[in-house]
Amino acid sequence: MVEVSEIRGIQGLLGFIDACPTPFHVVDRAAAVLRSSGFTELNEADEWPDASGSRFVRRGGSLVAWRHQNCEAGFRIIGAHTDSPNLRVTAQPDTGQAGYRQLGVEVYGGALINSWLDRDLGVAGRLATLAGQRLFQIDQPVLRVPQLAIHLDRDVNKEGLLLNPQTHIVPVWGLGLRTPGEFASVVAEAAGVDADEVLAWDAMLHDLTPSTVAGIDGDFIHAPRIDNQVSCWAGLHALIDAPADSPPSAVLCLFDHEEVGSTSAQGAASTLLPTVLERIAGSRGALHPALARSLCVSADGAHATHPNYPERHEPDHHFAMGDGPVIKRNANQRYATDAVGEAAFAAVCEKAGVGHQLYVHRGDMPCGSTIGPFAASATGVTTVDVGVAQLSMHSAREMCGAQDPLDFAVALSAFLSVAD
Ligand code: ZN
Repeated sequence: MVEVSEIRGIQGLLGFIDACPTPFHVVDRAAAVLRSSGFTELNEADEWPDASGSRFVRRGGSLVAWRHQNCEAGFRIIGAHTDSPNLRVTAQPDTGQAGYRQLGVEVYGGALINSWLDRDLGVAGRLATLAGQRLFQIDQPVLRVPQLAIHLDRDVNKEGLLLNPQTHIVPVWGLGLRTPGEFASVVAEAAGVDADEVLAWDAMLHDLTPSTVAGIDGDFIHAPRIDNQVSCWAGLHALIDAPADSPPSAVLCLFDHEEVGSTSAQGAASTLLPTVLERIAGSRGALHPALARSLCVSADGAHATHPNYPERHEPDHHFAMGDGPVIKRNANQRYATDAVGEAAFAAVCEKAGVGHQLYVHRGDMPCGSTIGPFAASATGVTTVDVGVAQLSMHSAREMCGAQDPLDFAVALSAFLSVAD
């Protein structure tokens, strides 16, 4: 059981992030908070004779939760993603060289690989066992990717750091000869199962430095996975605080696999959201008019203007920490926001008493994307891409403003609570 009070406020956010090193842990923790707030879990494999009330369903590293009475005012949907770029343990990871025991890893998503060097790393994830899935989390410095000394790479500060993802980032975790089966036995012990019960794993590394409020005036948060656990956390607040008995129906979707394009069985491009919405509505006949009355916020991190690289940003759009949620626009639909969505969310911010900013990417640089266009194309619902301004996006250690997550939660609450 995780009480809602445990995730309230900035310290609640920092604790949430530190407790969630993987998408599976995000979903597990969100489920625990939802349960303690009166939500009950449904299983996709069961019939749902009545999906009204406060419910949630899980699919892998994704979760959809809702408060629903009827379809009269459609759905107010908040989407976010549970995954972050990181290093993931391979299927046969036990390796080694030069007298070190090492673990094979793959880079997941668009990670800033240099940010994983010289850090105290733990490992976490889920095991597939004969008895079902088990989460595990080792918050000890069992791994490190040692950087090459400058004496062996004299030009690194002038010419830049080049990292081969196959050969240069293999973490060490002990001395001696490689030991086949060692990783399985270590994670089995962490999960409380016998090593021979472990059939497979989804395992990934995480930095152990605790999340913290930072800066001389406490203006910042330094933490891993700000992209996009800040949005998961803010959306969770908004749903829990949403009215249980008045339309529109409030829906929170937390999707895995955004960082690798969202096309998976449980990503934003999957059947998860459309099928769950149809089952909530009760029939396709009820769903389609409800969708036409709906609105979606796709919540994901935004780039704050970097003080050391202001030339990398659109010069007439300045993005600052502390100035409220950032509404993201892109003419080529890398973000789903259109004029109608922008206006709707700007009005929500005004009602909530928080500011907002408008993001546009530089025209001569390729723009990133997020779950918004997938949610919009899967549902036909007007969608607005919004997020908290941050620096160091996709680093193992990111930063954002200390006030912005709180303001974002307030704005998302107002979005779910305002009837059309
Ligand atoms: Zn993101």
